[in-house]
Amino acid sequence: MKCQICSNENLHKFLSLGNHPPSDRFLKKEDLNKKEPTYPLEVSFCNNCKLVQLTHAVDPSILFTDSFVYTTSSSGELVKNFSELVSNLTEKFNLNSKDFAIDIGSNDGTLLSNYSKEIKVLGIDPSESAKLAIQKNIPTLREFFNEQTAKKVSVKQGKAKIITATNVFAHVKELDSFMKGIKELLAEKGVFVQESHYLADMISGMEYDSIYLEHLRYYSLKPLIKLFELYGLEVFDAERIPTHGGSLRVYVCKKNVYPVSENIAEIIKEEEKAGLYEKKTFDDFALKVKETKTKLMEILFSIKKQEKKIVGIGAPAKGNTLLNYCEIDSNILDYLAERESLKIGRFSPGMHLKVLDESNVFSDQPDYALLLAWNLKNIIVPKLKEKGFNGKFIIPNPVPHILE
Ligand SMILES: [Zn+2]
Repeated sequence: MKCQICSNENLHKFLSLGNHPPSDRFLKKEDLNKKEPTYPLEVSFCNNCKLVQLTHAVDPSILFTDSFVYTTSSSGELVKNFSELVSNLTEKFNLNSKDFAIDIGSNDGTLLSNYSKEIKVLGIDPSESAKLAIQKNIPTLREFFNEQTAKKVSVKQGKAKIITATNVFAHVKELDSFMKGIKELLAEKGVFVQESHYLADMISGMEYDSIYLEHLRYYSLKPLIKLFELYGLEVFDAERIPTHGGSLRVYVCKKNVYPVSENIAEIIKEEEKAGLYEKKTFDDFALKVKETKTKLMEILFSIKKQEKKIVGIGAPAKGNTLLNYCEIDSNILDYLAERESLKIGRFSPGMHLKVLDESNVFSDQPDYALLLAWNLKNIIVPKLKEKGFNGKFIIPNPVPHILE
């Protein structure tokens, strides 16, 4: 396996989380007896360009087509983030009726729905969720984004002033074709904005559960700058944002179009300080991941010894990394509870935990709730208490503990 950015063949593998099925492949009942494909979930560090990445890339048609049941509008955090992003972009880059905005991985159209009606928009997304955007009359192309798609759009509809790719840029397997597509579609003064989960937050927050098969690269700023440089593009601004437990948003343009912000040098300095360019940081992280698993399992086993009931709260993709890595099955959790989700009625990939509607938690009153979307604990815990849940909460990361 070569580095996904610089082609270095000498990668340092520091973490192996075992074999996992795709994290969003929630199963229907009739699929439970069929063989479930699994793939090694291993992470490497490139000492040349500093990119942290998976060593095994699964075919995207397996990962992102019929099994993908995630909808952006179900996350209050993302809804707010996108509405702020679009209003900032509109102001900062003076968007008007002549402009064209594209969202790659547009899902159910939540981001695009924030643009003023006079701005022409287009979503590009092959997933099931794209059907929801089409139902809402948001123009959407149900295809993977690549050079070919970009050429087609560019000829038919023109070049884009804004291209956004949120929580998708780390998932792209054919990176070269994707990058060429961005370059092709970007207007002279166009801006490409990408948001991805941020490596600095993953390491400091022990967010190993944000590692999953769909997520091929774990970006810090330095390798991103290098990647865009390879295609004659320039990162001219960057900022840390709170989504997904900490993300990095970067702004990219054609060379020398916008002045380079001081934020860039500042973030690079922070990354150096956090050890993100050194192998040892990742070896230490891997060690701590193992310790975290041991500690969590001690908590769960001691509760089960007392014959108490535990349910999982939420069924996010990251939850499946945690469940499968720690092997938390139906002997430990009765079910996973979700709100307004297409996942309700299905079974979690790997551990085959049933996903039920959240209302079950209030009627069953299990003794403990394991918070799988633990990055949102400050929102979820008070909400569940307010709705009448009387049990205790188990927070799995960064240090597993029972919330008193
Ligand atoms: Zn590299």
